[in-house]
Amino acid sequence: MTTTPEAILQQYFGYNEFRSLQKDIITQVLSGQDTLVLMPTGGGKSICYQVPALMLEGVTIVVSPLIALMQDQVDALQRNNIASTFYNSTQSREEQRIIEQKCKDGEIKLLYVSPEKLVSGGFIEFLKHIKVSLFAIDEAHCISSWGHDFRPEYTQLKLLKEQFAHVPIIALTATADKTTRNDILRQLNLENPEIFIASFDRKNIRLHVTPGQDRIKKIIKYLETRPDQSGIIYCLSRNSTEKLAAKLQGAGFSADYYHAGIDSVRRAQVQQSFLRDDTQIICATIAFGMGIDKPNVRFVIHYNMPKNVEGYYQEIGRAGRDGLKSDAILFYSYADVKILREIIADIENPDFKELQYAKLDRMLQFADADICRRRILLNYFNESLTQNCGNCDVCRNPTEKFDGTILAQKAISASIRLKQQVGINTLIDVLRGSKNQHIVENGYDQVKTFGAGREASFQDWRAYLQQMINLGFFEIAYDEKLALRVTELGQQVLKKEHQALLSKPTEKTFAKAKTEKTKTKKQTLSEALFESLRTLRKQIADEQSIAPHIIFDDATLTDMSKKRPYTKKDFLEVSGVTQAKLEQFGVSFIKGIIKVSVEQFKEGATVKGASHLVTYQLHKQGLTPKQIASERAKTESKALNPVTIEGHLISLYQKGYPIDLMHYTSAEAVRDIQQVLHETSSEDGFKPIHEHFGGKYSYFEIKIAKTLLGEVNA
Ligand code: ADP
Ligand code: ZN
Repeated sequence: MTTTPEAILQQYFGYNEFRSLQKDIITQVLSGQDTLVLMPTGGGKSICYQVPALMLEGVTIVVSPLIALMQDQVDALQRNNIASTFYNSTQSREEQRIIEQKCKDGEIKLLYVSPEKLVSGGFIEFLKHIKVSLFAIDEAHCISSWGHDFRPEYTQLKLLKEQFAHVPIIALTATADKTTRNDILRQLNLENPEIFIASFDRKNIRLHVTPGQDRIKKIIKYLETRPDQSGIIYCLSRNSTEKLAAKLQGAGFSADYYHAGIDSVRRAQVQQSFLRDDTQIICATIAFGMGIDKPNVRFVIHYNMPKNVEGYYQEIGRAGRDGLKSDAILFYSYADVKILREIIADIENPDFKELQYAKLDRMLQFADADICRRRILLNYFNESLTQNCGNCDVCRNPTEKFDGTILAQKAISASIRLKQQVGINTLIDVLRGSKNQHIVENGYDQVKTFGAGREASFQDWRAYLQQMINLGFFEIAYDEKLALRVTELGQQVLKKEHQALLSKPTEKTFAKAKTEKTKTKKQTLSEALFESLRTLRKQIADEQSIAPHIIFDDATLTDMSKKRPYTKKDFLEVSGVTQAKLEQFGVSFIKGIIKVSVEQFKEGATVKGASHLVTYQLHKQGLTPKQIASERAKTESKALNPVTIEGHLISLYQKGYPIDLMHYTSAEAVRDIQQVLHETSSEDGFKPIHEHFGGKYSYFEIKIAKTLLGEVNA
């Protein structure tokens, strides 16, 4: 092996460094050892087998469960000149034969195949005739019947070790639990494997939990602040996905729905359209899952409460695979919990039923919490965070506590007088003395505490009662229309034996927190550039009929917008840009960047290097430095000296722009000046030289001669 993993990473993926663990994993794989990799979605698993594949002799066989995704994965690799292809049942025998031949001839480094294809007799036979460098088993948890994505075909993969004892295996999954892990190791029969477990913290995902009232209104408000961003909204029922999608469409958003009840052709269409950024929002049941290998999902909203923390975490994990800021928003309501409990109640196996209730309770504790939500989540997955995350609604909206004993007593007393038969809304109506039909019909307006809590608004009471439930003063009787029941601790509060510390309800908006820093001018400018590059990317993607992220992902566009490369050399410095991508898309993007930078500059913004660009454009029209200066004076507020323009031209030349400096001088002048330059020290400046020639040569000519001199010496 003559090359290093780092060189491969740079050459084929355009990244400067490995993320934690990637390098260790690659070293293991290259040493020929079996490995198991547990890494969250977006953690960067693919690189762990793609880099070795490019370094080892032979073909790496990648087992991937979704045929629909293979095309996309291979497209992306091919765009970076990585010799890869897929092999599946959608291809003709002739196509397959060509691929087989290419593998034999060493023209393929990565071959993607579905598990069912892999284990079919013919394929195994074929593999025996080529050199297989590595087996990479993606989504390895599919092998476990314990997991949520069990695929029976995966269990046959055990034959790999039997038939190819000397070929190393790398198994990868984003499912962290122990049972699944052991199942993978056992079934694949991995030999003395090294196990790598990455942190499952997804720092870029902002966690937010909010009460379920007015969710549609809240969602629309949120979406309005994020035009064109992609997201998924998970609903509990098929019906609600359809209704919600219709409402969002009605409000002018590009939305569609997805659930297991729609036919496979349409399902594929919906996915494709989402992947290609044609549909912005998908309202879906959890059936919309593994197939979404879309890096720029900016938000995942749970319209309804998920039934357990595992599901919740997996679903929000689909946001921000590209590592950029993303939102996870959970709406919760006790009504949802009631429905979920009813579903669980129908389970027959009593142990399983108990387990599901317990899991739902953990989910509820998470939603109710008033400590850092990420700490709770990671704790759940046996990983602990030593500090608050600063990126969840609890961390971002610190609240003040006050003695709320009297408020609590009013609520508890009212609940007791109502025989503990009413739920939150009715209790609030009684406290606030609202005479609606339900209250009057039931005679609730006759109880002694009626109207005792007028000092707080309905919304505030909701928030207080929520806290009282979390603090354990009340319990919710899910089996009796969500009635509130006063607990032992609640009785103590009533008797003044226990103080109720409540926090003031704050307006927690997930669109923007109060603590949000205002953007700098520079950020605003690069965001505008990002938007215009995104449009350009979409245009090119449509022309070539590919998904936009195959051109560049959002992380790359973001870096590009910050760095603003105007030259090919600088373009290559952008993270995620390879030589191959530079050749395919460099010119279009550089042109786009220059255009926006010049526009922003002309609107008065300070944009790195843009003044030079304006000079360059006028220079291309054949104008002299003096003419350029006077031309620019017509439109720009700050007048520029021709000397500055000369400086621009020289610096542009040095950056590699095609500027004919000789146009401003003569070979004779350059020769004369360079002669003298050799004799004078550079500290003296140009004045002595200028005087030496009695003003025969201009300062510009002297500068040019000096620039060209540097070149000869270099
Ligand atoms: P996973 O399969 O674990 O969900 P991917 O392999 O799809 O994750 O990687 C997620 C994203 O991170 C991709 O956009 C990938 O290009 C990017 N990525 C992976 N490794 C690196 C790295 N070393 N530097 C920068 N970006 C990386
Ligand atoms: Zn937090």
